[in-house]
Amino acid sequence: MKTRFTRLRGMPDLLPATIAPWQQLEAAARHAMRAYGYAEMRTPVIERTSLFQRSIGEATDIVEKEMYTFDDRKGESLSLRPENTAGCVRAAVENGLLQPGSVNRIWYCGPMFRYERPQLGRQRQFQQVGAEVYGLSGPAIEAELILLSARLWRELGISGAVKLEINTLGDTQDRARYREKLVSYFEANRSILDEDSLRRLAHNPLRILDSKNRDMQDMINQAPALRDSLSDASLQHFDELRELLSVSGVDAVENPRLVRGLDYYSHTVFEWTTDQLGAQSAVCAGGRYDGLLEQLGANNMPGVGWAFGMERVIALMDALGVTPPAQTPDIFIMGTDDVAQADSLALAETVRELLPNASVLHNTAAGSLKSQFRKADKSGASLAVILGSEELGNGQVTIKPLLGGAEQTTIARQQLEPTLSRLLAR
Ligand code: ATP
Ligand code: MG
Repeated sequence: MKTRFTRLRGMPDLLPATIAPWQQLEAAARHAMRAYGYAEMRTPVIERTSLFQRSIGEATDIVEKEMYTFDDRKGESLSLRPENTAGCVRAAVENGLLQPGSVNRIWYCGPMFRYERPQLGRQRQFQQVGAEVYGLSGPAIEAELILLSARLWRELGISGAVKLEINTLGDTQDRARYREKLVSYFEANRSILDEDSLRRLAHNPLRILDSKNRDMQDMINQAPALRDSLSDASLQHFDELRELLSVSGVDAVENPRLVRGLDYYSHTVFEWTTDQLGAQSAVCAGGRYDGLLEQLGANNMPGVGWAFGMERVIALMDALGVTPPAQTPDIFIMGTDDVAQADSLALAETVRELLPNASVLHNTAAGSLKSQFRKADKSGASLAVILGSEELGNGQVTIKPLLGGAEQTTIARQQLEPTLSRLLAR
């Protein structure tokens, strides 16, 4: 009996029929990154487990229960990357990109891996596009990163369905002060905390604010606000960002409960959210992570960035009906008998040279005209170029528009380029 292999749960195959929005999104992202002067960086999908433990944080959901971790043949613990901020910082430090005073604007696109329950907009292998900036500490670069994402949403036609939420976590000292207040507040309400929150109380009490547990909402709503623990400098940083966004025409909603699941954030955090995708409302998330670079070996270098999940952006494009149609060839080339068929291979090459931007599909087997036209129609091509023995003898070809009712014409080969260009332009 033959064994049939199946894909792993949560690890999707992206098939030709559904690849068009992916390509459109990749092209739009590449275009937007170039427009803002960001350079692409590609790092491995596997890193040492300790890199993620150290950077993302031991007590986070990702490190606690979502990583694909395994020992290699020498017994070293490795993990498939659950996100790429840590890998990019590791690569920037290791390759000497972070010279004192330098500014690096980089971006990436690629697969990430998290062991989660698969559902719409949530996969175990998913794709992120991310942007990261090293070397700038002011709010202007945060505004730039947000504007870059906003431009991308506009280009994709989804800006009406996303909204920007922002918050500030202050600096390390602010957060240490706040943590103390918060821990004593939660201690006083210990009986209301669920199991997850009790665990977080010791390592990551801020994350309790993020809890979706209904029974805890009233208690959380009355918790001390981080805002009251912020220093003047932290407040000023946040006010300046809001001012920059406002003069740039970006609407931002302040959400004091936005804390983000990763340990490395400081000052500004933000999320683009949508109400069109059910529970998976976060489309893009990011913030400032000034402590992370130092922690991974760079001297006192600030960092800030965001990442979005491509699945969620595409699901949103689908929901809004702005996904592009599947791509079809422009021209279908066929020979009507064996001799013409043999020559049509070279004709297809000629057409590809004359029209470098066209998609040209060559029918590799001769057959009845009827069966060839059936294939041509099925391919979705807009034009058929037909080579018969008569045309071959006369140095001609026949062109038949396949969409719409236009008549076929027989033309000299010299007329191929202008004729095909004109017909394709319709
Ligand atoms: P969520 O709260 O939805 O789990 P997150 O806070 O874990 O999101 P981040 O680590 O901030 O997500 O990753 C940034 C973006 O990557 C998210 O906003 C989302 O669009 C996308 N993303 C995260 N996890 C997944 C996943 N398992 N499948 C698809 N996309 C994901
Ligand atoms: Mg998550």
